[in-house]
Amino acid sequence: MADYDVIVIGAGPGGYVCAIRCAQLGLKTACVEGRETLGGTCLNIGCIPSKALLHASHEVHEMHENFAKMGIMAGTPDIDWAQMKSYKDDVIKSNTTGIEFLFKKNKIDWLKGWGSIPKAGEVKVGDKTYTAKNIIVASGSVPASLPGVEVDEKTVVTSTGALELAEIPKKMVVIGAGVIGLEMGSVYARLGAEVTVVEYLDGITPGADAEVARQFQKMLSKQGFDFVLGAAVQSATPKEGGASVTYKLKKDDSEHTVEADVVLVATGRTPFTDGLGLADLGVEMTKRGQIATDAHWKTSVDGIYAIGDAIKGPMLAHKAEDEGMAVAEVVAGKHGHVNYDVIPGVIYTWPEVASVGKTEEALKAEGRAYKVGKFSFMGNGRAKAVFASDGFVKMLVDKETDRILGCHIIGPSAGDLIHEICVGMEFGAAAQDIALTCHAHPTFSEAVREAALACGDGPIHS
Ligand code: FAD
Repeated sequence: MADYDVIVIGAGPGGYVCAIRCAQLGLKTACVEGRETLGGTCLNIGCIPSKALLHASHEVHEMHENFAKMGIMAGTPDIDWAQMKSYKDDVIKSNTTGIEFLFKKNKIDWLKGWGSIPKAGEVKVGDKTYTAKNIIVASGSVPASLPGVEVDEKTVVTSTGALELAEIPKKMVVIGAGVIGLEMGSVYARLGAEVTVVEYLDGITPGADAEVARQFQKMLSKQGFDFVLGAAVQSATPKEGGASVTYKLKKDDSEHTVEADVVLVATGRTPFTDGLGLADLGVEMTKRGQIATDAHWKTSVDGIYAIGDAIKGPMLAHKAEDEGMAVAEVVAGKHGHVNYDVIPGVIYTWPEVASVGKTEEALKAEGRAYKVGKFSFMGNGRAKAVFASDGFVKMLVDKETDRILGCHIIGPSAGDLIHEICVGMEFGAAAQDIALTCHAHPTFSEAVREAALACGDGPIHS
């Protein structure tokens, strides 16, 4: 008899959620984690610490920009950076220990150490080998490297180093205008750094709806961001007291160098599968280094499954979690399912940017007949009251059926507002269904309803 029904390798949002669901479904479950704490990239060095710093720095921004307008005379805020980092560490700790509690509650064994799979049905941790009917690999991802860029995690940093800087930089260069670069750039811009973003493409947030991306760039520029687009970074080198970045502009091949106290390399992440022994087992990989899986997260080797950042698809915590729950159902003999067409994406800057479903560019490329319903937060009373009226909701619906195909929001609480649309899309809703639903006043969500109204007879407040 096997030691376990399931051994999950990796305790990030994919792995720990999977382990909990397996245990809830009555499977004897263990989870292997090599890090000192549970929660993976997300809780330790990703989603959670970055949101803590975004929250703290947003409060600083509010003090500078809006407090006096509301008659709150707080003066210039004094920033105790050590205390801000310690607040961030407390937030991490309360989350990671929360997962430990959930493991105990669900009787999941945490096998501490780095795991490998000597053969199907076996997992080795340290010098112990455990047997399992099913193995689920949720080993996550690590920052991608860039040729010519020497990361020392002090002055040339990945997102991990950016969460732990010794001091708030006066000048920061961010390589890559994706989600992580813009979020961490926002933290330091709000804390007073001069931030320059160097991006290879001609626009920011690749893959986003182009209209939203343009508006977002304008808003970040107003907040002091400087963008160098169409620029191929040649090198980034730590040097005494800082670092320098050299890039070539694609338009004329001219070479430029910028100096900064800190350079953040945020050019994406790559699956992490080192040390698992997958090649020896004959587990098929994709050309991009991801573990290849079928529609039920099964790898090419029987009894081994994979989920999360280690496989294809958006590298997002909630995508990993959904796969974790679904694969648990599969190994328990049920029917796990993830709808990859309805996975929201959020950028937690101010304002937030959120999207789900198709972009306008994708619909054009498909030749699909669609309608656009747009509503500006200028017409939303609540947004005006909190100085957040820059931005809009853009809904894309099928021209004939009015069915929602996508939604893109730039504005206050966009990351929460988008879920109304996610639920609508799961139920096959039309814009009319949202438009006919009573929305509480005054809420930001009225802007979503107005965008839905704009797909039909027109919004009220514009
Ligand atoms: P991970 O969270 O990477 O966890 C994998 C775990 O497996 C790690 O703890 C690792 O130590 C362990 N492991 C690996 N190999 C072994 C082994 N052989 N033995 C034992 N243990 C092993 N996503 C969002 O959705 N929202 C956000 O706001 C967001 N913000 C982010 C901000 C930053 C700065 C970063 C870096 C990422 C962010 N992400 C965000 C992405 C998110 O963190 C990942 O998509 C998510 O963590 C992936 O989950 P996972 O379970 O697949 O892997």
